[in-house]
Amino acid sequence: MGANRELKKATEAYWAGKLSQKELLEEGKRLRLDHWKIQKRAGVDVIPSNDFSFYDQVLDHIQLFGGIVNLPEDKSLRSDLQATPERYTKYNLTQIDEFFAMGRGLQRPAKGDTPAVDVPSLEMVKWFDSNYHYVKPTLKEGQSFVLNANPKPVVEFLEAKDAGIVTRPVLVGPVSFLHLAKPDRGQKVEPISLLQNLLPVYEELLIKLKEAGAETVQIDEPVLVFDLPSTSKAAFKPAYEKLAAIGDKIPKLVFATYFGDIVHNIDVLPHLTNVYAIHVDLVRNPEQLDSVLQALSPKQVLSVGVVDGRNIWKTNLKKAIETVETAIQKIGRDRVIVASSSSLLHTPHTLESEKALDAEVRDWFSFAVEKAHELAIIAKAVTEGPATVREQLEANAKSIQARSTSKLTNDPKVKDRQAKITREMHNRKSPFPVRIAQQQKHLNLPLFPTTTIGSFPQTKEIRIQRNKFTKGEITAEQYEKFIEKEIQESVKIQDELGLDVYVHGESERNDMVQYFGERLTGYVFTTHAWVQSYGSRCVRPPIIVGDISRPSPMTVRESKYAATISKKPMKGMLTGPVTCLRWSFPRDDVHQSIQAEQLGLALRDEVADLEAAGIYVIQVDEPALREGLPLRSGPERENYLSWAVNSFRLSTAGVQDSTQIHSHFCYSEFQDFFHAIAALDADVLSIENSKSDAKLLRVFVDEAYPRHIGPGVYDIHSPRVPSEQEVKDRIEEMLQYLKPEQLWIDPDCGLKTRQWVETKAALTNMVNAAKFYRAKY
Ligand code: GLN
Ligand code: ZN
Repeated sequence: MGANRELKKATEAYWAGKLSQKELLEEGKRLRLDHWKIQKRAGVDVIPSNDFSFYDQVLDHIQLFGGIVNLPEDKSLRSDLQATPERYTKYNLTQIDEFFAMGRGLQRPAKGDTPAVDVPSLEMVKWFDSNYHYVKPTLKEGQSFVLNANPKPVVEFLEAKDAGIVTRPVLVGPVSFLHLAKPDRGQKVEPISLLQNLLPVYEELLIKLKEAGAETVQIDEPVLVFDLPSTSKAAFKPAYEKLAAIGDKIPKLVFATYFGDIVHNIDVLPHLTNVYAIHVDLVRNPEQLDSVLQALSPKQVLSVGVVDGRNIWKTNLKKAIETVETAIQKIGRDRVIVASSSSLLHTPHTLESEKALDAEVRDWFSFAVEKAHELAIIAKAVTEGPATVREQLEANAKSIQARSTSKLTNDPKVKDRQAKITREMHNRKSPFPVRIAQQQKHLNLPLFPTTTIGSFPQTKEIRIQRNKFTKGEITAEQYEKFIEKEIQESVKIQDELGLDVYVHGESERNDMVQYFGERLTGYVFTTHAWVQSYGSRCVRPPIIVGDISRPSPMTVRESKYAATISKKPMKGMLTGPVTCLRWSFPRDDVHQSIQAEQLGLALRDEVADLEAAGIYVIQVDEPALREGLPLRSGPERENYLSWAVNSFRLSTAGVQDSTQIHSHFCYSEFQDFFHAIAALDADVLSIENSKSDAKLLRVFVDEAYPRHIGPGVYDIHSPRVPSEQEVKDRIEEMLQYLKPEQLWIDPDCGLKTRQWVETKAALTNMVNAAKFYRAKY
């Protein structure tokens, strides 16, 4: 994104028509160069390329295999049998516009001879267990692939080479690309069955990379950390044998995995001569080192991921060096590469930008730029001897020691309270049928009640005022008045729209986790530590450094104010314990379950205060529950689910039967862990669903789920406005699986990234569609 989110700013300016395409492309080029140079200066020997993207790396690959050709007269050569679906190619957009159309949808009126465009985005889902989202390739039966005429990995490799840096291009591997894909709507194809059609494109691309001068290419096959179905697992051998058969016309490959261990799939590691190295994540799973070392073929190199690509803590250099030395002793110095555990996309740019951090705490952190330096130090220590970096190692040992003994990390009062948690504190007073009857009496909602997920558009004005407040240019009182005005405005809009359960709009929140982090003890927060969540959207996760507690109410003032000025029930809005944990940088010195429990207690107090203030519908969002799910099934996963569910129940179970607890999820693929979703015992679930197949809702039928559900009826990641008919169609589909008495009507997620114009238009259509069904039933 750049140290100051330059990429976000440039892409958003381009979308708003304030930056030309040429300027956007140049800004991308400038950033890439800048980032290569940072690594070079830090002393990193092998620098990756093609890790830059204007939206998402998987989407880059969709377009790379989508056959877009640059000459306008060649456009007719594109068929709908390419990775880019025909609904995008038919508009003859420029390459970058087609790319963004797939990423975020495109809706624009006709202008002159240019016809109108109206196309929704492709589905976007979480990248493994991170809060990054990738665009899902959507494939067709018998589909073929065609290499882009100007392949991005080659272009960017040459760009770096021109600047004097010979990089190692990074590609998503063929098995992972297909395993992470899905059939397009109405298609039945099993993506992995398309392997033979996809491989020729990889061959062609790798040959081109070699011709351009690439000696090595990193090929990511992270799906190896999953429990793979036999079809995907069986695809590795033919895929890599085919690539090996081309011999040295292609670069040597570094086969990379991350975010988990690969021991259960170790038999598929390619032992081919041109698979020159294997990369594994030894931060997450250090214990896999032995098995992987044993599995290497005699000359294969091991890339040891010892610097955490997913968190912000300083690397314990002593420990990292020991790990690297273990590998060296087994296979020799010339066969070991020192690396970060994964891409550094998931860490903020540089600690240098943090001017306001307390010095004691600051000394514990290491962001992407600092991690690059750590890599160089580790490598130097193991090649030239620890004496050559003695000063750095001593400073590091001091920081590590200081953190482990700091008073900031330890709060006996919190530990005491945790020790006193009882089993009853996790249970509501009565079962659901009793509760819902009470709630109905109290809330008096119609059939198909409409609501939104919490946030309303974060307008420029909101950001300006918040900025002024942060900088001390306006007083707290002035800022509060401003927020009250925003709340009045959103209540008025909800009156006009005719929604049934209101929200206050979350205008006072910069972010759903950071806002809470700033109000809890045990957290520190940053000014520039942004990480990409999806497309141009970045989040600034707060950092959990110590035991967590709530010094005073966090959301009561705004919710209470909103409730007093509205005629309909007002929903209180909280971020759940697991999401607070997952969307922060967690501590790595105590187990996550302990941190979640502390958050659960803090939120329990907040829920009680909201209820006491007259808020009788309270939504506790847990969109991160799923991303925390260990990637493989088994005891580790069950253990996670049990503490995650308990922390949610701890935060919500203290209320009266008549108080309605909602929870929200940014996904609806519950198949693998439905028992946990059901165990949350929330009265109403709202889930993102508009882009998924309504069939996913079948699990609610199969499991005879008794409580209420609001599957999202339209996508909120895109500015596109769904028609009333589209919403009706979605509701009709849902009614095949859910009972009318169970169904709530709501958008997929919060509306903070949208503009008011499209928000009002979309919600109007949504409310009308709900009214239509209300009249019908
Ligand atoms: N209440 C939050 C909002 O509306 C939920 C966001 C989320 O699920 N990611 O913004
Ligand atoms: Zn959501």
